[in-house]
Amino acid sequence: MKVIVSHDIDHITVWEHLFKDTILPKFMARMHIELINGKISLREYLLRWSDFFKNKWQNIDELITFNNIHKVPSSFFIAVSKGIGLNYSNQAALVWIEQMQKRGCELGVHGIAYVNKQSINDELQLFLKLSGQPQSGMRMHYVRNNENTFRYFDEVGYVYDSTENSFKNPYKIGRLWEFPFQIMDGWVIEEGQRWQTKTFEQAKDTTKRLIDKAHHEQLQYLGIDFHDRYFSHAFKTWVEWYMWTIDYCETQGLTFINFMGAVEELEGRN
Ligand SMILES: [Zn+2]
Repeated sequence: MKVIVSHDIDHITVWEHLFKDTILPKFMARMHIELINGKISLREYLLRWSDFFKNKWQNIDELITFNNIHKVPSSFFIAVSKGIGLNYSNQAALVWIEQMQKRGCELGVHGIAYVNKQSINDELQLFLKLSGQPQSGMRMHYVRNNENTFRYFDEVGYVYDSTENSFKNPYKIGRLWEFPFQIMDGWVIEEGQRWQTKTFEQAKDTTKRLIDKAHHEQLQYLGIDFHDRYFSHAFKTWVEWYMWTIDYCETQGLTFINFMGAVEELEGRN
């Protein structure tokens, strides 16, 4: 089993949300509840305030550097249209697309459209134009999909998608490779709750169980989704969980690969 780590970029700055959506008031409420309940330390609380003043809600460079040290290929999904709680502009995305390309990352679309095939194609074409890439992969924001979504991804020409959450091996839909993924930061740490519910120890136990299950199901690839936004000491449990998870995979003798590397393996080109 090899590990495919990927990152969804949901935010670039703090102020991109101002008067545009309800992310900021919700986030403020959450950090106060977490502080009062002792879920986060005063240091994390203050660091979250300092992010506001720095107007920085991405940690892309820091995450790539960590990944490079651990021989984890950096694979990102970045959005080219606005969606639920996602409000950065194409210009802001382009700055990071160029930076990530310069640092040798694999880039795909963090998709918003999933119902209308034309809109799905528009996002792909816009991403190809902005990035200059000949092809792309995809992960849906909030992993949204319906019975047609993955077929549309194939029909518009995506090479791979990693939106499905299941303990299944990659499979083909037309020419598209679907890579089900098994572990997402928020599911392990928050279990779908609005504020942090799990301790670091509990998150570690859950992760070990999921990795055991992936071994048991004889998966070829283990998919881990970690949001760059949480690669910050303002989110201590999250950043520690990610660093621990990479270390745990290493101690288990697992190696890392990106999606296109896995596609080449699956197509027998390697
Ligand atoms: Zn997202």
